[in-house]
Amino acid sequence: MTTPPPLLQVSAVTRRYRLPRQRLLAPAPVLTAVEDVSLSIAPGETLGVVGESGSGKSTLARMVMAFEAPDAGSIRFRGSDPNALPRKALRSLRREFQMVFQDPFGSLDPRRRIGWSVAEPLRAAQATDQTGPRVAEALEQVGLHPRDAERFPHEFSGGQRQRIAIARAIVTRPALLVADEAVSALDVSVQAQILNLLMDLQEELGLGILFISHDLAVVASLCDSLLVMRHGRTVEAGPTDRVLSAPESDYTKTLLKAAGVT
Ligand code: ADP
Ligand code: MG
Repeated sequence: MTTPPPLLQVSAVTRRYRLPRQRLLAPAPVLTAVEDVSLSIAPGETLGVVGESGSGKSTLARMVMAFEAPDAGSIRFRGSDPNALPRKALRSLRREFQMVFQDPFGSLDPRRRIGWSVAEPLRAAQATDQTGPRVAEALEQVGLHPRDAERFPHEFSGGQRQRIAIARAIVTRPALLVADEAVSALDVSVQAQILNLLMDLQEELGLGILFISHDLAVVASLCDSLLVMRHGRTVEAGPTDRVLSAPESDYTKTLLKAAGVT
């Protein structure tokens, strides 16, 4: 019997950055941002990655999105390595995994109408045959009105802008969303609305979600399982309930205390 490959399989990835040399003839120091991290996400599953600032979460996200290749280990999306694909094949595969950016203020062009920004991944994937209806559908899926496509970013609140960022991420009907600190800039009440929206979308669309946050309380509320990172390494991973009720690592215990979860 063959089991289908998971949506996303990350196996022992490592990413190093060469830093500027301190002295002319000294070797360039190397920073290991992510070391030996493995995870997998099934269709419809939500995995949370949590860790303090600098723990390597965004570096991991960039590798999953194939913006950067790992120095060691492998990334498989539905069994194939995005970094090994020819440019054109990668462009069309990108429809399948999309990122919700951290800062909807910075990532929405203030001079462009919302519809133009939401359609951006369709243009990037050269899939523009259904742009109008797809944008309308995505806006409705995030609780906005199709007519909002004609408006400009400054006409929306922070929470609405984050909905627009999510509409942009789902406009290609992806199988996987990577959300990096997607609610961190929002007030707690607005955060809860956006987390609910993500949960609804996950159920409706069967999305796999890699949800990254420095805030354990936020991650725990949304995710089936958790991966705790520190200094680029995995310190703990497992089902959310187990990690919360019986954390194995002292670092996780510290995070739990700080988040007031226990
Ligand atoms: P997090 O998202 O958890 O805050 P990052 O992945 O952004 O962590 O960063 C992990 C480490 O890698 C940090 O020490 C950061 O300074 C370093 N780093 C990230 N990107 C680069 C880069 N392009 N060049 C050099 N160092 C980097
Ligand atoms: Mg980050």
